Amino acid sequence: MKCTDSIETREVEELFINIDPIQAGGRLTPEAQKAVIAYSDGYSVCDNCLKPFRLDYIRKPPIAQFHEECAKWLKMDQLRVVPGARRGFQAVASSMVSKGDPVVLTSLSHYTEFVSVEQSGGIPVEIPLSENKYITPDAAAGKIEEVIEKFGRSPSLMFVEHADYQYGHIHDIKGITKVAHQYDVPVLVNGAYSVGIMPVDGKALGADFLVGSGHKSMAAPAPSGVLAAKEEYAEKVFRTTQAKGDVTGRTFGIKEIEMMGCTLMGVTAMGLIASFPAVQKRVENWETEVEHSRIVTDALLSIEGTECVSECPRKHTLTRINTLGSFDKVAQNHKKRGFFLSGDLKKKGITGVIAGSTRVWKYNTYGLTRKQTDYLASAFQDVAEENGLVVNRD
Ligand SMILES: *Cc1c(COP(=O)(O)O)cnc(C)c1O
Repeated sequence: MKCTDSIETREVEELFINIDPIQAGGRLTPEAQKAVIAYSDGYSVCDNCLKPFRLDYIRKPPIAQFHEECAKWLKMDQLRVVPGARRGFQAVASSMVSKGDPVVLTSLSHYTEFVSVEQSGGIPVEIPLSENKYITPDAAAGKIEEVIEKFGRSPSLMFVEHADYQYGHIHDIKGITKVAHQYDVPVLVNGAYSVGIMPVDGKALGADFLVGSGHKSMAAPAPSGVLAAKEEYAEKVFRTTQAKGDVTGRTFGIKEIEMMGCTLMGVTAMGLIASFPAVQKRVENWETEVEHSRIVTDALLSIEGTECVSECPRKHTLTRINTLGSFDKVAQNHKKRGFFLSGDLKKKGITGVIAGSTRVWKYNTYGLTRKQTDYLASAFQDVAEENGLVVNRD
């Protein structure tokens, strides 16, 4: 079956166990798939857009209700839907950062955080990592001190990742925001790898801004996400337009500048909203998800020569693994080189490991059933044994 001559249907999620780090939490729910079809046309959510004509006021379909409920769920005051976490960073940086301002990021920050700072003219500085690859409150304080020394003023904003994309470590956000607030530095908590897959309480974390990614972790289509703020900062980041036409004298009501008026007007908003009840439920299963992550990691570690680069036992479903001493040794002499691993896994119905990589790579077990988890764990061991590696099965 094809969509057009040149566009094939995508069957990855139907045919494979997909452990691609960035795709696991964004897989749509059946509810979202239905909503996506029903709202496939352009500005489909705008049928009942009434005065004051803004996306987050639409009650049918329940977009306004989602804004209220999702803010409450994240324990934040205000929330908007945005086209991806990156657009949330952009809105905040654009509101909070002026040209030449120092902005604190971390040594695990995502490129989109850097780019948002760059776009606003800020100067990025990174909090260094601890030896075990964590961002600590002490290191955050040290960096703020360093900025004050160098720039003669506090940074105008700090970004910190709740769970980072490199190791899947969950950082001490509460401790970090506490330190930042002692210096009056507002903190954006990046929940791209937490909001929608694990319980997140913005208030307990001390977040001034909290950003989530719909397509990474909220079972939503791309590009989608949420930007939540504390009341104190909501006024600033969600400020409304003052623009006026000099010829026509037109003004533009309560359109928000950083949101360019409206953001997600069809499929993206409806997919995000349709998955929301399931997403609220699934975060309660986080302990089970972590257990599955540990089963797979243990199986990989049972292959002699393999090392877990992320902290073990795992506390997140995203894991960085080093197989230089195992699968990469096989690759040296294999006729398919490093491609044997992804190839052998594919034959067993597993996808999402970057083709050709046998050195240091990542996988994400999020959303697998126990049966799929056990299958995946033994598939790794089987591939290892079939290629002459020693596996310590218990
Ligand atoms: C994926 C990711 C992002 C980008 O999210 P988008 O929703 O695609 O903009 C930002 N930060 C981290 C830590 C990520 O892992």
